[in-house]
Amino acid sequence: MSKGLDLSAVLQASPPSDPTRKIYVNRNLDMAEIEAIGFDMDYTLVQYNQRALDELTVEKTVEKLINNFNYSDVLREIQVDYDFIIRGLIVDKKTGHICKVDQNRVVGRCYHGYQAVSKEERISLYGTKPISLSSDRFIRVDTLFSLPESTLMAGIIEHYKQANEPLPVSPGELCMNIRQAIDEAHCDNTLKAEIIAHPAKYVLEDKDLGATLHKLKIAGKKIFLLTNSEHYYTEAVMSFLLDGVLPFFESWRDYFDIILVNGRKPSFFNDPNPFVRLDQHGNPLEETVNTLLPRQVYSGGNIHDLERMLNLTGAQILYVGDHIFSDIVISKRSAWWRTALVIQEMREGVKHTVTHADQFNRIYQLDQAARQIDDMINYQRTLTRSLERVQKLIVALTSPETHVIDSTRERAEQEIEQRKKQLDTMLAEAEKLESELDQSFNKYWGRPFREHHELSHFGAQVKVYADIYTSQVSNFLFYSPDQHFRAERSFLPHEREHLTVTHKS
Ligand code: IMP
Ligand code: MG
Repeated sequence: MSKGLDLSAVLQASPPSDPTRKIYVNRNLDMAEIEAIGFDMDYTLVQYNQRALDELTVEKTVEKLINNFNYSDVLREIQVDYDFIIRGLIVDKKTGHICKVDQNRVVGRCYHGYQAVSKEERISLYGTKPISLSSDRFIRVDTLFSLPESTLMAGIIEHYKQANEPLPVSPGELCMNIRQAIDEAHCDNTLKAEIIAHPAKYVLEDKDLGATLHKLKIAGKKIFLLTNSEHYYTEAVMSFLLDGVLPFFESWRDYFDIILVNGRKPSFFNDPNPFVRLDQHGNPLEETVNTLLPRQVYSGGNIHDLERMLNLTGAQILYVGDHIFSDIVISKRSAWWRTALVIQEMREGVKHTVTHADQFNRIYQLDQAARQIDDMINYQRTLTRSLERVQKLIVALTSPETHVIDSTRERAEQEIEQRKKQLDTMLAEAEKLESELDQSFNKYWGRPFREHHELSHFGAQVKVYADIYTSQVSNFLFYSPDQHFRAERSFLPHEREHLTVTHKS
């Protein structure tokens, strides 16, 4: 083998040094080939104080349930557990169960209220085959906006369980009422009025955001905003975050070449909704939109016309969003846009992985060792079976020959017993470590990207649909606007088996 370059220094120098700010790569993405970068707004450019927004949403939804849906005042007393729900879970409207699904869409664990559902009940309800996640029966927790909905669902169910009283309505109706109430709270200004009145309480400051957008823009990328939020709300939160941040960009609008609000994603990617230009108060102007002008705000629209007016298609456009379905899966599937997923909670997730690196390494080593022991056991089993067959076939064996065969078989059987004990000890240790890791992250659900030994459904969606993923938009500041984001080479097990330099998959 040729000696090649010494790679040790190069391998250490990978920016940035803080792993919670890194951009992680699933698929090669050469930013030099990207001509336009689109940004979603909520939970992408604008990140929220999750606990504060959860509390606000739960409070406003409870008021609507009591006032508009005739629920009891008792709801105001319920103490919900805000740490219960994580992204990627699903809610079963029929039963009120909340479930975590693995990469094969099999339900791996579920809870009713805060009580774990037994394995027997889980299997009798959902079986061991894939469930249909597109069915009306399930609501998916695809964005951090959805956390309070399931938080409230579980909290109310738990409350009635503890009180030993029946739920006042069926789980399906409860689910529907919470959905309607939250939907209303988003659309009728209830939540947004509070956020606009107290932005510092709800919106997380990001001192690098302005510089990041500016850096991408002056590198020649067309920068566009595509949000489902309304004009008035976009104006308010974007002004709060960006106005006056850089001396030469007075208004938040200066950062963008195109501004699209009320985008109606995922419909934006599938339906021919027209673009409508809005005046400065957000009122629609009666004109046909043939070009998208800078500093103007457009409502609605569709991907087909956007690509035509940008004169760009598919892989020339990178879209950065937080909603795994409406921003990432759909833009990838319907237009083959390049995709960057923003996962705010990765800041905690990455810290957790770094803090528990020793355990992860130990689990990996235990898995490797277990496979080797399996091989040893298999060898001894083959040997004993062969000796059995020899004894049966050759009836004319002499006594010393039989003795040699018997003692060889006995030794092989003892070895198998010993190895099995060793294997059980190793597997038990790996299981214990895995469960401790899960517990230390979230005592109910474990880690969002994993379900037991496999990826979770959410983890698998991230892997397949998000070309790159990261904790916040301003992490782009640490990279060149023409960065070649390079994915790890993927290996099949027969290839990885022979790697000696790394154990990364
Ligand atoms: P984006 O992420 O910038 O596209 O904006 C998301 C928008 O969806 C925000 O205006 C949210 O208020 C809104 N939103 C989130 N959840 C719901 C819902 O359940 N019903 C209606 N609107 C929602
Ligand atoms: Mg969003």
